[in-house]
Amino acid sequence: MNKLQILVVEDDKSVRNLMSTILKAHDYKYIVAENGEEAILQASTYNPDIALLDLGLPDMDGVEVIKKIRSWSNMPIIVISARSEDADKIEALDNGADDYLTKPFSVEELLARLRVTARRLAMMQANNTNESVFRNGKLRVDYAAGSAYLDEEELHLTPIEYKLLCLLSQNVGKVLTHTFITQKIWGRSWDDDVASLRVFMSTLRKKLEIGTESPQYIQTHIGIGYRMLKVE
Ligand code: CA
Repeated sequence: MNKLQILVVEDDKSVRNLMSTILKAHDYKYIVAENGEEAILQASTYNPDIALLDLGLPDMDGVEVIKKIRSWSNMPIIVISARSEDADKIEALDNGADDYLTKPFSVEELLARLRVTARRLAMMQANNTNESVFRNGKLRVDYAAGSAYLDEEELHLTPIEYKLLCLLSQNVGKVLTHTFITQKIWGRSWDDDVASLRVFMSTLRKKLEIGTESPQYIQTHIGIGYRMLKVE
């Protein structure tokens, strides 16, 4: 497998050096940018595989960087921000970021996010050749037939649960915000819809995650949203 190239966007020199050291030690290629303008330039020049993006940049908000990059590229963007900035994380995700990492982060956490994102990249490429069936561990979604199976047993899902499952699977590896999901499912996002979403998600989970040793397909991001994980 070719080494993935990571774009590191971070104005804090010590964090930037730490990240570069980690990436180098784990066999990633990397390029760095110290501000938003440089990030956009690096992204368009080198077309990296994944971007790690600090939100608080000296010349512009990280969200502006996401919007710019999204105007021409689907490259996965992992936002890096401080814990106190939940609203900023949500804004970043709604504008096209794939995932987020909270500062201060551990080396293991950073590497785990990169692995999740690398699997998402591989799946995106695989799905380009086979669009009608989605497979993840024991789960299979046949979009054309409108049905889902777990261990080759058909799942009995309500129409909303099925829509949710499709939305999550089509965005596997990516954190989807409450607003994004409710907009897609109900075409609006009221407080009531977010409460209903919680209920539908819990019934979907019960059908999908039977027993304690079964893999966890759906991850909850408290106060933010949900993500389907790629299961081995
Ligand atoms: Ca910063």
